[in-house]
Amino acid sequence: MTTRITVDSGKCVGAGLCTVAPGYFDLGSEGRVILLREGDVPEEDLGAVTDAATMCPAEAIRISSERS
Ligand code: SF4
Repeated sequence: MTTRITVDSGKCVGAGLCTVAPGYFDLGSEGRVILLREGDVPEEDLGAVTDAATMCPAEAIRISSERS
C-alpha cells in the first residue's frame, strides 16, 4: 500500500495545526501550508499525518492510499 499526501495551499487558512506532523507540513512566507516531504508516507508517520489532515479546519490536506 502506498500512501501519499497532497495539499491545497489555496484552501489553507494558515491555522498551523498541521505542524503536529513535523517534517511534513510547514507554513511558508505567505502563511500557507507547504508540503515538505513527498512520496510514500512510512507507516510510523501515518498517525501524525492523519491527525494533521483531520484537524485541518480548511480540509486542505488530502491523504490517499493505493495498492502498490
Ligand atoms: S492545518 Fe490546514 S489550514 Fe492550517 S496551516 Fe495546515 S493546511 Fe493550512
